[in-house]
Amino acid sequence: MAAPKRFYVEQIADDMTLSAEESRHAKNVLRLSEGDEVTLFDGSGREYSAVVDHVARDAVHVHVVREAVSDREPGICVTLLIGALKGDKTELVVQKATELGVTRVGVFSSRYCAAYMNENKLERLRRVAREAAKQCLRATVPEVVYYESLEEALRAGEDSRNKLFACEFLPAGGEGLGRLQDSVCAVVGSEGGFSEEEYETARRLGYAGISLGRRILRAETAAIALASVIMYAAGELQ
Ligand code: SAH
Repeated sequence: MAAPKRFYVEQIADDMTLSAEESRHAKNVLRLSEGDEVTLFDGSGREYSAVVDHVARDAVHVHVVREAVSDREPGICVTLLIGALKGDKTELVVQKATELGVTRVGVFSSRYCAAYMNENKLERLRRVAREAAKQCLRATVPEVVYYESLEEALRAGEDSRNKLFACEFLPAGGEGLGRLQDSVCAVVGSEGGFSEEEYETARRLGYAGISLGRRILRAETAAIALASVIMYAAGELQ
């Protein structure tokens, strides 16, 4: 039997109505009916088995039968900081980072950054994170935050035990990721890359500059590749 369908809820309660969007999806796309089992998650890491009580014209009512802690969350806390990208590239990065198990995505503006951010775009990124979490069976939705400057973003990652700054002008063949601990902050620039001063700022704040090899990767490739190798090194992709 297929796994129960998953629905995101803002706040969990024993008896509840799914949001208008989730209700539409449950009713019109998945064609759920009374008695069907579903899984609810609220982004906190817990998930809930629930049963459909009633399908109304535009609302689906469910009741929770039991709570469980998800076993799909990574044992490592990864913050990915990425320069704001053009078009829908930032969305792509948020989606892939969520699937890979990243805990937080910080989007920043930097010197050579050509894209801008606004409330609508940020809300869209958060929605992408929710959808991706749902699809990959995560019970935690990565937080998506915007920082107006690179320095602000770098400071937000300061508590991480490993701080990695992917820098395209560093020579290839360096030390690599090093020995990873339980929290990592990884930084990748936008299409325009980083300036020498930005690299210096990162160094001053305790970030280790790393190379991703002899070829220059597109920003979104670099972000996804770096998140992947971190997760692999942490034993999360096995
Ligand atoms: N416009 C720049 C390239 C930017 S690539 C240029 O022409 O040189 C976008 C971001 O991806 C970079 O800021 C860096 O964070 C990352 N990146 C891409 N290739 C990389 C590499 N070989 N080593 C380290 N970081 C890399």
